[in-house]
Amino acid sequence: MDTMIASLRPLADGTMPSPGTPYAIALQQFEQAADLIGLDQGMRDFLRHPRRELTVNFPVAMDDGSLHMYTGIRVHHSTIRGPSKGGIRFHPSVDLNEVRALAMWMTWKCAVVNIPYGGAKGGVIVDPDLLSERELCALTRRYTAEMALLFGPESDIPAPDVNTNPQVMAWIMDTYSMTKGYSVPAVVTGKPLAVGGSEGRLEATGRGVVYTIREALRAQGKSIADVTVAVQGFGNVGSVAARLLAEQGAKVVAVSDVSGGVTNPQGLDIDDLRAYWRENGQRVSGYRQGDAISNADLLALPVDVLVLAALENQLRGDNADRVRARIIAEGANGPTTPEADIILADKGIVTIPDVLCNAGGVTVSYFEWVQGLQAHFWSEDEVNHQLERIMTSAYQTVMDEARRSNVNTRMAAQALAIRRVADATRLRGIFP
Ligand code: GLU
Repeated sequence: MDTMIASLRPLADGTMPSPGTPYAIALQQFEQAADLIGLDQGMRDFLRHPRRELTVNFPVAMDDGSLHMYTGIRVHHSTIRGPSKGGIRFHPSVDLNEVRALAMWMTWKCAVVNIPYGGAKGGVIVDPDLLSERELCALTRRYTAEMALLFGPESDIPAPDVNTNPQVMAWIMDTYSMTKGYSVPAVVTGKPLAVGGSEGRLEATGRGVVYTIREALRAQGKSIADVTVAVQGFGNVGSVAARLLAEQGAKVVAVSDVSGGVTNPQGLDIDDLRAYWRENGQRVSGYRQGDAISNADLLALPVDVLVLAALENQLRGDNADRVRARIIAEGANGPTTPEADIILADKGIVTIPDVLCNAGGVTVSYFEWVQGLQAHFWSEDEVNHQLERIMTSAYQTVMDEARRSNVNTRMAAQALAIRRVADATRLRGIFP
């Protein structure tokens, strides 16, 4: 089972994603996991299609007085287990098929950690680095207004993703609330604390990544203090994971972002690097307490743990054989292709799959939503304790499934998730 890549079938509208793209990969993974659990054809067809999609084209008044058109997307893959949940990314490479893939992965992610949500994702095709703060605010508000058809605390709850942050979430919360006439904090998660955010949400994805790494090391009789780490991506996930790992005694020997990478075999001082990153326009390149390293070489370092916290399709058939890490932690969504999965498995490398590894973010989003609905807020200790409980139990459940079914961890996680969504679908029945 692990050495097979499922073939693609067209969707109901006759389209088929291009091979090698995230959506093709998400569908191939789904078919393979569906085979594993013996999912019947009807259920399989239902679960591989997104439930609904909205594409909007909208104007933003730019600072120079001109109008600029932008395209925004929101996809609900599933609403079977609850409201749809998932982040919004602002990135030039956003497209409908990418968002479909990310929405499908959110469905499996929420099911893996067993929180009562379906999966969604949204995006705007934009390079936010080229916008002023006022333009970014206007873009966010107009996108939110266009998506008001979908967003709501009972229907669809967005959150941060690539290039979006608590400030953007506050603008979404405000825009939605303005249309209602009262504050609706539970419409979005990842908000600043001052407007109903949760303690621990900002760090939750990185913290969850570290819990799963700790469990993977424990299974090998090691602890975080024993290991060397390389981290690809220094955004909200990679920088937090790097800091927490270093705090717990790991040697973080390399870090990279879009600007390039830095390496220091003695271990990087992550707090110092973070301060440099802030002063250097949020870029790690040029950091003096280390040598420059390319992204490609970082992926091939002989470390114990490689954290992938950038974008999709980073380890592929053409570079996976260079990987020398023993454990790969997928802080990003979809960083490893099915071809790479086969190569890594052959090399005996353990992959902690995205839908498990980075599920800490949406888990604390769930806590934030619950707190917002109840207007009752938890301490940071309580949040972290509940996060640890959910992440370690999901980790064990996935590993048990992998052992029982004799498959890799990605297949185990997806099989578990698909079974949960299929069971809920059967219980609800098909309308009418
Ligand atoms: N964007 C994050 C993810 O991919 C968080 C989603 C959420 O909190 O809803 O999991």
